[in-house]
Amino acid sequence: MKIGILSQHPELYSTRRLVEACTARGHEVQVINTLNCYMNINSIKPSIHFEGQELVGFDAIIPRIGAGVTFYGCALVRQFEMMGVYAANESIAIARSRDKLRALQLLSRKGVGMPVTGFASKPDDIPDLINMVGGAPLVIKLLEGTQGIGVVLAETKKAAESVIEAFLGLKANILVQEFIKESNGSDIRCFVVGDKVVASMMRQGPEGDFRSNLHLGGVGEKVKITPQERKTAIAAVKAMGLVVAGVDILRSERGPLVLEVNSAPGLEGIEQCTGKPIAENIIELIEKEVMARKAKRKVVA
Ligand code: ADP
Ligand code: MG
Repeated sequence: MKIGILSQHPELYSTRRLVEACTARGHEVQVINTLNCYMNINSIKPSIHFEGQELVGFDAIIPRIGAGVTFYGCALVRQFEMMGVYAANESIAIARSRDKLRALQLLSRKGVGMPVTGFASKPDDIPDLINMVGGAPLVIKLLEGTQGIGVVLAETKKAAESVIEAFLGLKANILVQEFIKESNGSDIRCFVVGDKVVASMMRQGPEGDFRSNLHLGGVGEKVKITPQERKTAIAAVKAMGLVVAGVDILRSERGPLVLEVNSAPGLEGIEQCTGKPIAENIIELIEKEVMARKAKRKVVA
């Protein structure tokens, strides 16, 4: 097979591991810088050019679309889809999961557990908004934040009011969320490939921080998840329509609560602390999907 990895960072561990796994399993692989591609959109032969050449003959792509390039990245993935290339995460699913509000609405429709969450644009009654999610302490999040940046804990009602006012004054879209105290600054990252959780780790934030993101100094350790957590992670990924995803789950008194579903989860921390070959799992899934699509096409013909 010929596989393209859409990434702006060929030097990153995740990209390198995916390249390695493709090569080890006998595939041709090319890392394609998302922003450097340009597309020809037409109804006869849609195409993509990269480094002055038309990209041809790809069986599959692995989109690793960074949070800063969601718009262009999704357009590029969509163009590959129109050309009949299998995407290990469809553009529509990436867009759904990138928007925290849209993602939570979809999860709620499917009955997946999550912290009580409020959303507001220009609330005429901020204290009521705060009460709606159970009062202080509460968590305030920028809608498109990532890696823990833009996630704030307001310990008192007064602090919550001023932070909400400040964000809204800057015209930022925010979520207001029940604070899950009993998770103690830790969460569980479940890595899902297809319909399986292939690895999971517990992340613990640094002393004094309620956020467990590895980018903020959190540390990961291998964890055994419960059947209910496994079911929750898989249901969350299905609700988004993703096939490769990292689900962040809080352990709460009322069971597993999903915080978010990441469409381009990092491989480094989780492969290293669990010793699981996630990159190979992803390539195996792609092989299966591409074969199934080819078989289907033959039947139709
Ligand atoms: P990001 O996309 O920036 O990673 P998250 O919603 O995943 O944003 O939040 C970052 C981290 O903050 C989480 O991994 C978790 O440790 C902590 N956190 C987020 N929301 C809550 C909450 N409602 N209660 C307790 N901890 C939370
Ligand atoms: Mg997160």
